Order: sequence, then structure tokens, then C-alpha cells
Amino acid sequence: MVMSRMQYGSDYKKIPAYSMGSGSDMEVLPDLFTYTNKIVNVHMVGHPDEERFVLVDAGLPDSAEEIIKVVEKRFGEGAKPEAIVLTHGHFDHVGSIIELIEKWNVPVYAHKMELPYLTGQKPYPDPDPTVEGGMMAKTAPMFPKEPIDLAGNVYALPADGTVPHMPGFEWIHTPGHTDGHVSFYRQSDGALIVGDAFVTVQQDSLYKVMVQKKEIQGPPVYFTTDWEAARASVEKLMSIEPYTAVFGHGKSLQGEELREGLQYLAANFDDIALPSHGRYVDDEK
Ligand SMILES: [Zn+2]
Ligand SMILES: [Zn+2]
Repeated sequence: MVMSRMQYGSDYKKIPAYSMGSGSDMEVLPDLFTYTNKIVNVHMVGHPDEERFVLVDAGLPDSAEEIIKVVEKRFGEGAKPEAIVLTHGHFDHVGSIIELIEKWNVPVYAHKMELPYLTGQKPYPDPDPTVEGGMMAKTAPMFPKEPIDLAGNVYALPADGTVPHMPGFEWIHTPGHTDGHVSFYRQSDGALIVGDAFVTVQQDSLYKVMVQKKEIQGPPVYFTTDWEAARASVEKLMSIEPYTAVFGHGKSLQGEELREGLQYLAANFDDIALPSHGRYVDDEK
């Protein structure tokens, strides 16, 4: 593996902690474990007795020690995943990935359209500070968007839809939030790792108040640049009828609550998800 060349983006920085539910963890299924790293979730796929597992996403900057501690608590001292699989490459999902690769010496997989953002080739579009969404949107311009460079350690997910080291799962392309955003789905029990295609708790309590009790939200607004694609991705995920869902942000959902929430989001996407104005919103809407 090529390690010496790995580097974070030029605007990489530690983000002041918004710690809603930070440090909480949950065994959502016997082989699906979610840990909340301040504002973002990382997932571990694999049964703790089998010592084979995958880490999905890699948390915020400066969180590697915390993530390693959680991994070892669940899978045993010295345990390491067989791979790190990414839903997408935003800073809050790859923030500690270089330290984790250096510690574990494991391959990383992401959708091929996400690779430019993970190999130093292309920055993400500017976060949109003009959308409503309160503090998080207002502080979005400080979020890192420059590409990190994982050098030779990141690979495209296989074209056949399988997910390396995650038997039974397939990846589903769910663009909109980013070009190469993917979700991971297991048909046998309807388990879905959504990523940021839609989330359950807006990282902004004001927004949550505005939309009252509905817990399912669209993708985080300030980073989403293609709203039509984002809508289509929500519809795609609804159509597969997942039974259990875990998210990049917010708490997991199951059964009726998930089904109804997803249908409600799809049916009311313009009201719930789409900002009424903003850099990436078509004004003619
Ligand atoms: Zn994101
Ligand atoms: Zn995110």
C-alpha cells in the first residue's frame, strides 16, 4: 500500500463539536452497529463473534482514536476491519480515514464517481450558506471541501453491485447529495445503510422544530447540489422497501416508522427537503 502520499485537503480542520447524541452507540441488528461520532454516524457491519467486519464511513477529523476504541470494544482488542467502505467523501465521513488506514492497513472502497474527491483531483462544490437551515448552514462555508488524497488506498466499488467484504449487501447509486453517493442494501432482511441520501435528524434543531415531528428529512441541505437527483434517489430507496435503516446523521428507523416516514418524504419532497431558495435550487420552482 502507498501510504506516504496520503493527505487531507488543504482546508482540513477540526470542526467545533456539535454534540447531539455524541458517543452513543447502538446495535441496530446483531451484525449492524452504529456509533455516533458527535454529529455523524459510523457503522460496523459484521457479527462480533465472527471477527470479520467492515467499517462504513470514517467520522469527523480528529476522531481516529475514538473510532478505534469503539471498534476494539465491540470486536476485541487489536481488531481491525477488512475494509473501509464509504457512502461518500464529505469531510464528516472521511475525517479520520488516513489515521485509520495507517493503523489498520486496509483498503477503502467508494463509488467510482466519488474517487476524484478522494484522490486529490477535484474539490466538492462550495457548501451553500444561502439556504435556510440555521446555524449549520451559516457555518457551512468553513467546512472542508478540498479533496483528500488517499493515494493508492482507495478503489472503485465493483461494477457488479457487490460490496467487498460485505456479503449479502449490494451498493445502490444514490446521487444528488454528491455525484458518487451510494447506499448499501441487504435484500435478505431489508437492512439499508442510507448515508446522506436522506437523514433522520437535521443537524440543526431549528429546522427540526420547523418541520415538527417528522423525523425523516432530505439530505443535508448545505452540501446538496443536485436536488432532482436527490429526489430520484429517495424514490429509488423507497421503492426497495427497506425494513431497517441507518443513516449518516440521526437515529436508525425500522418497520412502519421507516416505511411511513419515507413515503411522507417522497410525497412531500419539495416541502420537506427542498430549500425554498439557494445557490443550487432552481429559482423557477
Ligand atoms: Zn454528506
Ligand atoms: Zn454527512
